[in-house]
Amino acid sequence: MLTERAIVGLQELTARDRVLTAREDLLTYAGDATPLLGARPAAVVVPRDAGEVAGIVRLANEEGFSVVPRGAGTGLSGGAVPSADAVVLLFPTWNRILEIDEPNRCAWVEPGVVTADLHQAVEELGLFYAPDPGSMKVCTIGGNVAENAGGLRGLKYGVTKDWIRGLEVVLPTGELVQLGGKALKDVAGYDLVSLMVGSEGTLGVFTRVLVRLIPKPPTTRTILATFATVEAAGAAVAAIAASKILPSTLEILDRTTLRAVESFAGVGLDDEVEAMLLIEVDGRAEAVDDDAHSITGTCRAERATTVRHAASPDHADELRTARRAAFTALARLRPTAILEDATVPPSAVPELLGRIRAIAERHDVTIGVFGHAGDGNLHPTCLIDGRDAAEVARAEAAFEDIFSATITLGGTITGEHGVGLAKKRFLPRQLGQPGVRFLRQIKAALDPNHVLNPGKIFDPAPRCEGPPLGHPRFVDAT
Ligand SMILES: Cc1cc2nc3c(=O)[nH]c(=O)nc-3n(C[C@H](O)[C@H](O)[C@H](O)COP(=O)(O)OP(=O)(O)OC[C@H]3O[C@@H](n4cnc5c(N)ncnc54)[C@H](O)[C@@H]3O)c2cc1C
Repeated sequence: MLTERAIVGLQELTARDRVLTAREDLLTYAGDATPLLGARPAAVVVPRDAGEVAGIVRLANEEGFSVVPRGAGTGLSGGAVPSADAVVLLFPTWNRILEIDEPNRCAWVEPGVVTADLHQAVEELGLFYAPDPGSMKVCTIGGNVAENAGGLRGLKYGVTKDWIRGLEVVLPTGELVQLGGKALKDVAGYDLVSLMVGSEGTLGVFTRVLVRLIPKPPTTRTILATFATVEAAGAAVAAIAASKILPSTLEILDRTTLRAVESFAGVGLDDEVEAMLLIEVDGRAEAVDDDAHSITGTCRAERATTVRHAASPDHADELRTARRAAFTALARLRPTAILEDATVPPSAVPELLGRIRAIAERHDVTIGVFGHAGDGNLHPTCLIDGRDAAEVARAEAAFEDIFSATITLGGTITGEHGVGLAKKRFLPRQLGQPGVRFLRQIKAALDPNHVLNPGKIFDPAPRCEGPPLGHPRFVDAT
């Protein structure tokens, strides 16, 4: 509950015009990119510096309100969706790249820096920051760190956690600390940077981020392979994963997605085929040519109907952009697109693809599948009308089955989007009660008053560790 006294306290900490309480402002920040989730916060605050963030968090402990840090709001698990008593923190002007340290191959950045802007700035210097979520032209480094975001280059270069060397963080108590730093090796105490990465705004507010950089790979080749069945495409993914070549990108698009992308982006994709792989290799030119040749052979051996190479860097860029538009393109087909994040070991991709198709048929829903197939990370996207309760229930039942299949195949309910609100009811199935209790103990130790983004990943009280109760998603954005 945000009292009048707390609002005055916030205004004194920042400035009157930095504390927004008008209904339309609150509605703007009621949701993120996750459909069917939303709640109007009590206030929105735009702090100017880390000292103000620390003061707000201390005030939250004193006055009993919660604080939800927010980046660009592109999250797909409801991580930035506030509760009704929450104060949302915005970082729109925290978008400076503070230092690019070329000799030490790292950069300090503010949390509101847009990911693609960081790519551009470091690439101009011949350096490279690999994490490239599909949303990279909009999403922020702060949100990427909080979700441990992945991207198209994850197969070779890993996810955000592999690129974070240090953080300046406001802890849930309101203390400001720096974790990690420019030293390449550092084993002084527990690995607290790793604890913070992927903490979904529940353990700290990031006020500065130290990212790792590497030399930019000099050459990239882009290959498109099409298949008569989605299972054949899955088999090619498993065969490439088992080969001695490590592509930077290995993406899959099924026919539903291909059709949607082609009608949206018009880049000349063959949308009559059942599946397509977008594969990239990067590195030194000679090695890249050899790898591209081998991958072409593997795709043909796995019954690819066509294998083509991008004609030019611009063509490759167009294909990548089209792939990044997959969710947007699918979302145009029906009023509501629920995108999920099922991830299995790469060798299980063909099996999961087959099971998703059978599950969609069984529950009578349309599911388009695309994703980072090389990482075993698929995004089954269910296209429904969220106003139709029966259709929503069928979609939820289909996702229940998809996650059961994912866990049975040795996978996880989320490879990169986080648990947030949307998936917390599945977490006990994945981690078991002891695993969830462990997470809860970490949260309670660092944030005894539950001020930072409470109710995300797991509920504070143990009663919710059991099987799901009632409808998992709710609508309260009015
Ligand atoms: C079209 C589309 C494509 C996408 N593609 C990918 C993809 O390929 N890979 C992938 O991993 N994700 C993808 N996503 C999901 C999303 O973009 C990522 O999760 C991204 O990291 C969210 O960043 P954001 O700035 O929008 O954060 P938000 O959505 O605003 O917030 C996400 C979480 O971060 C926390 N947070 C934000 N800022 C801070 C901070 N300063 N300190 C502490 N916590 C903070 C929030 O509390 C919340 O829990 C995609 C989303 C869309 C809409």
